[in-house]
Amino acid sequence: MSLPEIKIMTLGETAVGKSSFIVKYVDDSFSSNYLSTLGLDFKQKKIVLEDGKEINIRLFDTAGQERYKSISINLIKKANGILLIYDITNKSSFNSIEQWMDNIAEISSTNTKVILVGNKCDLNGERQVTKEEGERKAKEYNLPFYETSCKDGININEVFLRITNEILKKNGKNDDNDKKGEILTNHSKKKKKSKCC
Ligand code: GDP
Ligand code: MG
Repeated sequence: MSLPEIKIMTLGETAVGKSSFIVKYVDDSFSSNYLSTLGLDFKQKKIVLEDGKEINIRLFDTAGQERYKSISINLIKKANGILLIYDITNKSSFNSIEQWMDNIAEISSTNTKVILVGNKCDLNGERQVTKEEGERKAKEYNLPFYETSCKDGININEVFLRITNEILKKNGKNDDNDKKGEILTNHSKKKKKSKCC
């Protein structure tokens, strides 16, 4: 008998730590080697909810195809949750969040939950994006926000707990069907249409 399942995917620029995030959560391990060629496809983890029920979290990674929207399109469509990750030591990975949000708003179902993640917070000395900038960006899109470190294991479990709770809370039942018509966070509406200074 298969368990109820939720699908969560990572998105963001190359080398922000998308694969590391999944590996840290599922295997509790971290490698400082660049993982882009690993071709991590998906991993899964069974978790037990507070009420004792078990669910399966299926985690989809985007491995080196971040720029090719068409490859991720089906994954984005099917995802119940998206971890949108940038690297706090890489300003351009942060600057591209807007573009990712455009893609998500365009493709994902309206009840897909998104969390903004500023990864590599252990590298504070090399920081190019302040925590406040991350918080502001998250507020702009009405997203939860966390700074994390895959290396030091900071906030990884918290991010997964949060997104799992958000997905289950809103879906009501832990089933695998697409829920239509439940508009929880309409990212496209929250999104600012033009930049201002
Ligand atoms: P991806 O291309 O987004 O999947 O990024 P990877 O997971 O392959 O990570 C890219 C590089 O960043 C690797 O060398 C990782 O070891 C490193 N990395 C990932 N997360 C962290 C982190 O939290 N802290 C530090 N210091 N390095 C990290
Ligand atoms: Mg990767």
